[in-house]
Amino acid sequence: MPHYEAMDGLSFVCPQCKQRHTGLPALACGEPAAFLGEPGHERPVERFGDDFYVVEGQDFFVRVVLEIPIIGQNQNLEWGVWGSLSPANFQRYWDSFEDNDQSKLDSMFSYLSNEILGYPGSLGLPACLFHRDNRLRPLLLLDPDRDHPLVHDQKHGITAARAIELAMPVLHPQGGA
Ligand SMILES: [Zn+2]
Repeated sequence: MPHYEAMDGLSFVCPQCKQRHTGLPALACGEPAAFLGEPGHERPVERFGDDFYVVEGQDFFVRVVLEIPIIGQNQNLEWGVWGSLSPANFQRYWDSFEDNDQSKLDSMFSYLSNEILGYPGSLGLPACLFHRDNRLRPLLLLDPDRDHPLVHDQKHGITAARAIELAMPVLHPQGGA
């Protein structure tokens, strides 16, 4: 039986490389799963730093954090993902981006704009963005009334074993050591 210890970050003997890993990597999605047009009619994309992504001046996305609690651990499983915003909310977030007190912003409606590995059908789940102080990226909280495994797991948490399984493609890309 694998043995999991609660400490400063999850520490575990890896089922793949048999070494001990401490902490789980953040799982990152490089860009939003936006509709980029048909071949030959691609929609122009503008990317501003690591946090802002605009398609054809019409579809607006920002980088956010999706957390899933790990039961019995003091670490969450964390995804760096994209959430959509209305043009007005995108502007509000943009204008306050350098501020250290962004939690003063109202929460903002958003759609999760990535398909999360291990959670088919998660792309497009409705959510709310909560802004944080000290230049931390906003937290994305899925609409708790939606019936989807990712919503369930964000509400109730996942086991350490499941978190490790979800992180494995990042710990060991393409099954390599
Ligand atoms: Zn490993």
